Amino acid sequence: MAQSVLSPSLPSAGSAPASLPIRAILPWALFLGTLMLVLLYFVGAEQGATSVFSGATVHEWVHDGRHLLGFPCH
Ligand SMILES: [Zn+2]
Repeated sequence: MAQSVLSPSLPSAGSAPASLPIRAILPWALFLGTLMLVLLYFVGAEQGATSVFSGATVHEWVHDGRHLLGFPCH
């Protein structure tokens, strides 16, 4: 006698994916986009005349990331 294999966790053919409203995503997208721009600034341009913090501490912390991402350094 053959056993029937049922998989109750798989969605049925008629199910639709859950919708995500743009109003729920927009604040998170703006926040994460701003965070990524700040991170990109500190990795790519935080040195010399454009530095926010004096000294080379931030530049030294992200120095390997600069080289990994191909920003001009030295
Ligand atoms: Zn370098």
